[in-house]
Amino acid sequence: MIQIQELKNLLKNPLRIGITTHYKPDGDALGSSLGLSLLLKSLGHEVLFISPSDYPPFFNWLPDAQEIMVYPMEKEKAESFLIAADLIFCLDFNHIKRIQELGVFIEKLSCPKIMMDHHLDPQGFEDLAFWDTEASSTCQMVFRFILEFGFLHQVNASIATCLYTGIMTDSGSFRFPRTSPELHRITADLIELGADNVEIQERVNGTQSLNRLKFLGYCIENKLVVWKEFNTAYFFINQEELEKFEIETGETDGIVNYALSIDFVVMAVFFVERGEKIKISFRSKGNFPVNELASKHFSGGGHLNASGGESEMSLEETIKKFHSILPEYHHLLVT
Ligand code: 5GP
Ligand code: MN
Repeated sequence: MIQIQELKNLLKNPLRIGITTHYKPDGDALGSSLGLSLLLKSLGHEVLFISPSDYPPFFNWLPDAQEIMVYPMEKEKAESFLIAADLIFCLDFNHIKRIQELGVFIEKLSCPKIMMDHHLDPQGFEDLAFWDTEASSTCQMVFRFILEFGFLHQVNASIATCLYTGIMTDSGSFRFPRTSPELHRITADLIELGADNVEIQERVNGTQSLNRLKFLGYCIENKLVVWKEFNTAYFFINQEELEKFEIETGETDGIVNYALSIDFVVMAVFFVERGEKIKISFRSKGNFPVNELASKHFSGGGHLNASGGESEMSLEETIKKFHSILPEYHHLLVT
């Protein structure tokens, strides 16, 4: 364990710092990792951001994205950096299993691990935690860290852009319940510090590949099952369909929200075949706890209204299981 004051003292000297984030990183995971990495580099530290998997190519425009090391692609280099690291920042996750194979390696290292995260149920693998489930995003927490450590003068347009992007994506473009007055103030600061909010909105919300758009149409037309009796709707996608539409990492994100947007739907689910596993995204409205359902039945977790899980059964079997557990939740789905 280390204390905040010890971390402040440590950061006064040039260090070798590793940064990592969760598997298949999203906008918040990438924005917080790149933003913190740029900040620490500007303070004179040697920093390497290692992603435990590939990341969505449509985030390639983020500042410093070309410097991301993808662990499965450059395992030896990543490991030799981490073996000699003084600190490792773990951003936007709180269970070592969320970084898969990289976690097995990092767990064995003795250097302090600093966790910064806003998800429920932390495992406790870290030596120092910045943890707040009320935060909209890890980027919001990185900004608070910057203020608390007195690094605001180091924040340039690139860092502001990274943090703005993660705040925007994790708050559903300032729609989700954690969109607080504090968040709007931070966002205003980031715009003043050089984040081009109009351009970032355009890049994230106003841009997609033609394949992705056609895939979305295909999903809505052919792969949406609406189960009115349970106020539930879900999409189910197999590997062949992903390949047919040349869907890249991250391009299925957000499709589940089209099912959730149906007026009577309380729970929406997206099942997608990824290699040997089925990856599942759950979303809900109101008080329906998709994190409990994900954790109890699909080895997952997350937030009350946005969770994920997985299944080792086939797509058909997974959906069968989902059908079989729904009656257990009928009283919460239909009120
Ligand atoms: P998504 O559906 O966008 O992949 O994930 C939604 C939320 O659930 C995110 O906050 C994410 O961190 C969490 N989540 C996704 N997959 C898993 C999982 O397999 N295990 C746990 N514990 N949380 C997950
Ligand atoms: Mn996040």
